[in-house]
Amino acid sequence: MIVAIDGPSGTGKSSTSKAVAAKLGLSYLDTGAQYRAITWWMISNGVDVHDADAVANAAGKPVIVSGTDPARPTITVDGVDAAGPIRTEEVTSKVSAVSAVPEVRSLITELQRSIAKGAERGIVVEGRDIGTTVLPDADLKIFLTASPEARAARRSGELKGADVHATKQALIKRDAADSSRKTSPLAKADDAVEVDTTDLTLDQVIECVVTLVEE
Ligand code: C5P
Repeated sequence: MIVAIDGPSGTGKSSTSKAVAAKLGLSYLDTGAQYRAITWWMISNGVDVHDADAVANAAGKPVIVSGTDPARPTITVDGVDAAGPIRTEEVTSKVSAVSAVPEVRSLITELQRSIAKGAERGIVVEGRDIGTTVLPDADLKIFLTASPEARAARRSGELKGADVHATKQALIKRDAADSSRKTSPLAKADDAVEVDTTDLTLDQVIECVVTLVEE
């Protein structure tokens, strides 16, 4: 059983994907964390993230390893725990530039496919292009949406009181960059089920996805 959950930031993808995987005994993969990890490595190693050639040349250097237990997902870069550093504002503001580089995408896509293939009991994979590009044969594809206001409110809550207006502007900018890149942009697959989470609680979204998996 492979479940692909895509959508823009702040729609509840991570919380939903982890909970659905835990409930159904599946593995869980956060593909955004992998793009964040490679971005963190670029920043830490002095690579200009806006120089696409430099990013492409360095893309194969970091070794990124994702732990897929939904109760305790992990991510390391060259053996170092990267869970904290990949969530900084600097990484968040630079990740779209790095994830737009085709060499980065093809390396990370290969990694994602091999993790999904190795998940014996199945996996929930969350991201932006899972249903369209990474795992087009997924058993179930979900595309989560929510109003920009709801997404910004959730994100600023996660960021412990960050300014909602500034968070909304940053989200809109990142989604625009992710949706307009040439290689596998953020998009809904034709056969994905769209779930608008604006007026739903997290529990309701989880229930909805679990029901779709069990159908
Ligand atoms: O999900 P999260 O907000 O952590 O993703 C961080 C960034 O990683 C996104 O803004 C996007 O640039 C990139 N990403 C992507 N493709 C995916 C998952 C994430 O390009 N499948």
